[in-house]
Amino acid sequence: MAEVRLRDIEKTYPEGTQALKKISFTVKDKEFVVLVGPSGCGKSTTLRMVAGLEEITEGELFIENKKVNDLSPSKRQVSMVFQNYALYPHMTAYENMSFGLKIKKIPKSEIKDRVMAAAAILEIEDILDKKPGKMSGGQRQRIAIGRAIVRRPKVFLFDEPLSNLDAKLRGQMRIELAKLHRKLDATIIYVTHDQVEAMTLGDRIVVMNKGEIMQMASPMELFMKPANKFVAEFIGTPQMNFFNGKILEIDQKISFKNDALLFDLSNLKLKNLKDHLGEQVDLGIRSEDIYPHIGDLKNYTCISTHLIAIELLGNEKLVYSEYQGNNIVARFRSDFELEMNTKVNFYLNLDKAHFFGKATGERIY
Ligand code: ADP
Repeated sequence: MAEVRLRDIEKTYPEGTQALKKISFTVKDKEFVVLVGPSGCGKSTTLRMVAGLEEITEGELFIENKKVNDLSPSKRQVSMVFQNYALYPHMTAYENMSFGLKIKKIPKSEIKDRVMAAAAILEIEDILDKKPGKMSGGQRQRIAIGRAIVRRPKVFLFDEPLSNLDAKLRGQMRIELAKLHRKLDATIIYVTHDQVEAMTLGDRIVVMNKGEIMQMASPMELFMKPANKFVAEFIGTPQMNFFNGKILEIDQKISFKNDALLFDLSNLKLKNLKDHLGEQVDLGIRSEDIYPHIGDLKNYTCISTHLIAIELLGNEKLVYSEYQGNNIVARFRSDFELEMNTKVNFYLNLDKAHFFGKATGERIY
């Protein structure tokens, strides 16, 4: 059971930066957990603490139910794959992968078995005699992963492993890594700032900001039910649209109102709306929940927007519009004809709206 548990972990660097504020989460055995968040939010610090490369200021870290705070990196049975691969340039792929085992005085025949088994998993048997200088970025990345695999760790740690690759290769490697997780059947903690990578790879995702955990959930839950405005903005492309307004009782109906919008919320399946009367809220709506016509929408509001730009994606297009000083983006089918510099109706599907308290940023509905 290679479970990893962080309990009230804090990190303050010697010169005073508080990188982590009491974070707690558990990575289950064989789970693929992705830490995601903007640069500087504390992802790498968290990973490096699990690896044993960074001292823990406060809190407890457990691997397989054993407290490892004071255990040296080599005794933790974790393997880390770094962003810059950290391969030895003068060694072949085979030598790079076997070096750590040689130091541990593992018999030659076993080293060979382990390297060949890892090479088969990664489909790199034909480049084992190449040196890193003669390899593509993707191949180097595979060797770095191979080096981690041969150590047979309990936990794999990946620190932005794809960020040095070009966009196309990154896309391919994402799929490779998902496949690799299935083959290895191992516990993985993976750091990235790229939400698409996180959503593709993670069984669960930890969204971090400023040294704190904003939400830990499955990709679908993060997308469907973001716990706060930060997660709502961070997850999903293009970014969720927001309108600021108030929840008010107007003509005996509980409504959302701002200078440009007024609509009745009483038909929406929202509980305890009355508790929020008079509160400032942010209403969030994703581009795919805005339609060009009514269709079978039950609860909607229609706004007449001014078309600014269109981005063709293939079978869909992103429609960027302006409404009363707000920029709004909708996602329509490509065959829906639009003319630049005209008005375009946006039908907002209110059944898909998200509400966040303005003051707290926390999800209300
Ligand atoms: P991320 O991986 O999310 O980009 P980091 O964990 O690298 O974030 O950094 C978190 C915070 O800690 C940042 O403010 C960063 O400047 C600071 N930090 C990271 N490493 C060190 C270090 N070795 N010494 C001092 N401060 C550091």
